[in-house]
Amino acid sequence: MKFYIITLSFIIAASSFLGCNNDNIKDAKVETKVKNSNNSNEEFKWQVDTFADLRVLKYQIPGFDKLSLRQKTLVYYLTQAGYEGRDISYDQNFKYNLPIRKALENIYKTYKGDKTVDNWKKFVVYLKRIWFSNGIHHHYSNDKIMPKFSREYFETLLSQTKINVDNNIKNIIFDPNIAHKKVSLDPSKDLLLSSSVNFYAEDVNQNEVESFYKNIINKKDKTPISYGLNSRIHKDKNGNIIEDVYKLNGLYGNAIKRIVYWLEKAKTVAENEKQKQGFDLLIKYYKTGDLNVWDEYNVHWVQNTNVDIDYINSFIEVYNDPLGYRGSYENIVEIRDFEATARMKILGENAQWFEDNSPIMDEHKKEKVVGITYKVVNTAGESGDASPSTPIGVNLPNANWIRSRYGSKSVSLGNLIAAYFNAPGGGMLEEFANSKEEIELEKKYGNLADKLTTALHEVIGHASGKINPGIGTPKETLKNYASTLEEARADIVALYYVMDPYMIKLGLMDNLDVGKAAYDGYISNGLLKQLKRIKPGNDLEEAHMRNRQLICNWAFEKGAKENIIEKYTENGKTHFKVNDYKKLRELFGVLLRKIQKIKSEGDYEAGKRLVETYGVKVDKELHKEVLARVKKLNTKPYSGFVNPYLIPQKDKDGKITNIKIEYPKTFAEQMLKYSNEYGNL
Ligand code: ZN
Repeated sequence: MKFYIITLSFIIAASSFLGCNNDNIKDAKVETKVKNSNNSNEEFKWQVDTFADLRVLKYQIPGFDKLSLRQKTLVYYLTQAGYEGRDISYDQNFKYNLPIRKALENIYKTYKGDKTVDNWKKFVVYLKRIWFSNGIHHHYSNDKIMPKFSREYFETLLSQTKINVDNNIKNIIFDPNIAHKKVSLDPSKDLLLSSSVNFYAEDVNQNEVESFYKNIINKKDKTPISYGLNSRIHKDKNGNIIEDVYKLNGLYGNAIKRIVYWLEKAKTVAENEKQKQGFDLLIKYYKTGDLNVWDEYNVHWVQNTNVDIDYINSFIEVYNDPLGYRGSYENIVEIRDFEATARMKILGENAQWFEDNSPIMDEHKKEKVVGITYKVVNTAGESGDASPSTPIGVNLPNANWIRSRYGSKSVSLGNLIAAYFNAPGGGMLEEFANSKEEIELEKKYGNLADKLTTALHEVIGHASGKINPGIGTPKETLKNYASTLEEARADIVALYYVMDPYMIKLGLMDNLDVGKAAYDGYISNGLLKQLKRIKPGNDLEEAHMRNRQLICNWAFEKGAKENIIEKYTENGKTHFKVNDYKKLRELFGVLLRKIQKIKSEGDYEAGKRLVETYGVKVDKELHKEVLARVKKLNTKPYSGFVNPYLIPQKDKDGKITNIKIEYPKTFAEQMLKYSNEYGNL
């Protein structure tokens, strides 16, 4: 399974699977001034390109410097292994993606004509969109991307560059009726014949494949292999169904040979014996295509948690197959997030202090509290199905019997999430902030405030408080309000403590301005920004959105007399401004005590009243205003990433002495480089 950011609400949906570690990420930020990982003084530019409905971002690799040379080398080898399979994705997505990409890239590289005209710009956008989607179908909608230039213009490009493209390819590009959908899920049609993915030959239909697998799958098997995961289906000359297996001497063998080459190298710098055995199994799987080996590998991989460097490499997710058998090639290289791990450790070690000093009633405090940890990693390179459009969290392996017997690894990709939120937010912060000071504070401390509140929410918030004896679980007593109240409590714990001098004492922050940035962001999100995700006329349903509005609305109302949070209108725009942070913190304490009491006592009526009064209803006029303000900002709906280049530094004997990080200057540069260096098919 994997989780994407499409809109912010996707993070929230994903977060419930991932243990909700991202749910208090705020809505938007503008370009934050962050030093790049080489500690030079250059400001890090997050965005490298934007076109059509897309923007392309860069990401940093925090903690790379902290790795040993051996570990850095391992990361380098694993990213290389990943890129070698890039072409597989193109071919899996559609049979003609590679010839189309190659022809367009040749034109792009050799055309000497006028590049200032509109048509040329449209041609470049078309090519960039193909790079972004690993093919001619939109990465998200699955619809074929139609060029905005004419077939005649394409003909001139071809004749001037002397590049030959046959008519079939031209028809595919320009005829909207050919291959118009990558993955069709329309049950009224034959799913294979109406999809363009290349997992099945064009003359194979849904019935044939379904009966093929019906005959070979034993339903009583408690440990079934992942049938069809690594093959393409076609018919032999007698019309029998054949699986053409992706393996070293099989389909995609040229790319797999290169992947294996780098995995062999990775083996020599593995972090421990178990990881080395994992590489052996993966190599054996690539060589044989044996799905029993694939299972053996996964059982092994999921149990090896004692590593700083981890990876996903092979044919993994089956979303691109309308029948759900075949895995798309992907690669993600992960480095443990040392900073987040250290932060969680400090908070976890002090969990009892937080519990003892909490404003909740003494009878609701745990005598012995244990902090909850979760896993955050930073990605160092992605390829195939995971790039340029990337998941933000992954939970693997997919085989159900392995998951139930051996568990799964669930990670969130911390540095990618950070990049999403640090990249220019299209002016959301400026639009909703109250003052220059607030914007400055957010730029300076917003990132840290997010990280600390997230860690407090998870490690301390969800671990805190106890249920009175004989009451039953919150799910039983509070029913449909249980998760909103649980998330609200975790959020208020985070808000309460992010303004506590004890956090400074623990060395987690330098001053309480971090807390102020957290409060400003939370209030403007909870009362204004998050409304952009709701359709006009709707109320709030999702638990995290409800809990945020609940907290903000409640604090706004209770602090009205003392004007703790001020509501005002300027130039027709509504704002909420925190006037007294200290008093707001006290209010949060009161609400925390109240919510914990509801949970501890299982008081359904009180919980319902609180959520329904403050967390559900949307102010229709205000909602309309927010939607109009956001619409004017014209933000791009989809983002993806270029990878940093990991460049080995070698001594005169060719021995690697260090790995340097550099960034591509443009999206096109990286895509052409990849096509050139890893063009294995
Ligand atoms: Zn939570």
